[in-house]
Amino acid sequence: MEQVVIIGTGCAGLTAALYTARANLKPLVLTGIMPGGLLTTTSIVENFPGWPEGIDGFELMQKMQQQAERFGARVEFGTVDKVDLSGSPLKISVDRKPIETKTLIISSGAGHRHLGLENEAKLENKGVTFCATCDGALPMFRDKPLVVVGGGDSACEEATFLTRFGSKVYLIHRRDQLRASKIMAERTLANPKIEPVWDSAVTDVFDVAQGKVTGVKIKNLKSGEETTLDCAGLFVAIGHVPNTQLFKGVIDMDDAGYIKRVNGSNTNVPGVFVAGDCSDKVYRQAVTAAGMGCAAAIDAERFLTSLE
Ligand code: NAP
Repeated sequence: MEQVVIIGTGCAGLTAALYTARANLKPLVLTGIMPGGLLTTTSIVENFPGWPEGIDGFELMQKMQQQAERFGARVEFGTVDKVDLSGSPLKISVDRKPIETKTLIISSGAGHRHLGLENEAKLENKGVTFCATCDGALPMFRDKPLVVVGGGDSACEEATFLTRFGSKVYLIHRRDQLRASKIMAERTLANPKIEPVWDSAVTDVFDVAQGKVTGVKIKNLKSGEETTLDCAGLFVAIGHVPNTQLFKGVIDMDDAGYIKRVNGSNTNVPGVFVAGDCSDKVYRQAVTAAGMGCAAAIDAERFLTSLE
């Protein structure tokens, strides 16, 4: 029987792992399909305290894992496929292997939101991508015009990163003002290789017949005018959806699927705690996720003490 199982190895999960490991609870930490979480796909993280020059997202997550492991956290590659949280102990299944635990910390993070276009799905990995850091350097994007969709920090970061590779980057946003933080927005709009396309939505992607991206159809949401834009890549950066489908009907969540927290990191199920992006649609920062992971670890530890 485990004392603590932690689902997810992003900032929230690994911080919960660090704290529960230091409390000598030997947490079992399950990576899911994306070890290190979404931050591993970020190039440079400039706003995590303690790194005045910034740090590569992948490196930061590696260091967090090493720190948790140093105190006895057991990080295992595995995906939870079933949960039964109806009694004590809590029961989960990891790649069909049953595990029982006294407490569970859900820090399953969030995934990329898609535009929902038919051809977006058909051309995924053929020029449509959700991660510029992962794919931007591919030969198919070199010295070609590229399109980024979105108006948040992610879209700005992706557009700026892609100017290293593309001949030009169009930033298509559905409003005429970026949602991104001031510093990111200013940096992006000052970049001569980035051209914003305001009040516009991508309504189609070409060309499925050729098996690669050759352009996008754009609709101006104010005038209704439709145009096409030649490009070799479509980078979709329009936010995230929480990875909480597994807990639907079991754990209380809001309409968008974010797990509800009560009294700190508690959920509606005793012994089940939550931290990070799967429960936070407001702040969604590496450092707030880490803070929530710490809180969940402390709450789990206190819960275990109360059982004794
Ligand atoms: P976000 O802040 O939620 O922004 C999503 C953007 O996509 C918004 O501009 C939104 O438009 C647009 N959008 C949403 N759904 C759309 C749709 N169906 N079609 C077209 N556009 C759509 O998401 P994010 O940029 O991924 O950032 C998430 C969080 O991570 C934020 O808190 C951000 O600060 C943080 N972050 C930080 C950094 C950094 O500091 N280095 C880097 C990346 C992300 P509207 O503006 O009209 O709503």
